[in-house]
Amino acid sequence: MKAQQRRPVLRYDDGGWAEAIGGHLALDLVNTVSWRLDPDRTVDRLPDGAALARWAEFVGLEIRSRVADETAVEVRRLRERIYRVVHPLALGADPDGADVARLRRLLLGGLGRAEVTSVMPLELAAASLPDQLALAAWQLLEREDAHRLRQCRANDCGWLFLDRTKNASRVWCSSADCGNRTRAQRHYARRTTEPR
Ligand SMILES: [Zn+2]
Repeated sequence: MKAQQRRPVLRYDDGGWAEAIGGHLALDLVNTVSWRLDPDRTVDRLPDGAALARWAEFVGLEIRSRVADETAVEVRRLRERIYRVVHPLALGADPDGADVARLRRLLLGGLGRAEVTSVMPLELAAASLPDQLALAAWQLLEREDAHRLRQCRANDCGWLFLDRTKNASRVWCSSADCGNRTRAQRHYARRTTEPR
């Protein structure tokens, strides 16, 4: 059996972590909210500029100077606009037209400020973090297959990813994490409902 490839993990003081499991930078950005589907546990991993800088470095983005808290506000706004469009798609539904229009404005803003680094194929580069992430979102929507978008099957996780397996069989953000946890919960539920 082939050993599972270990992905780098960004660990937080509260025991939580971030993992680049989205298969795309724009989805890894969306996944900077942990336990999105469980309001009692939801954690935003980009509360300020320092946290954004740490995450950006983790996913390999270039940071040229100190990241301001206002930049984190901008990135969180972009993140939630991406989520509002990509989440329904991951469930096989159409996003709301107003949500698409709001995201479109942010994407066009990023494109408007981008430099052309290659003409054909067209490649763009942006200087600021929000614009780099807006370009990533543009590329996600433009180049990837909506039928490959998935939401982790665990009922509290909410992380999104592109299923790049050949037979479209991936259901967990990480089988070592949500997969195992869910299996353990099912096992526990079965055991506790058994007559004593
Ligand atoms: Zn998960």
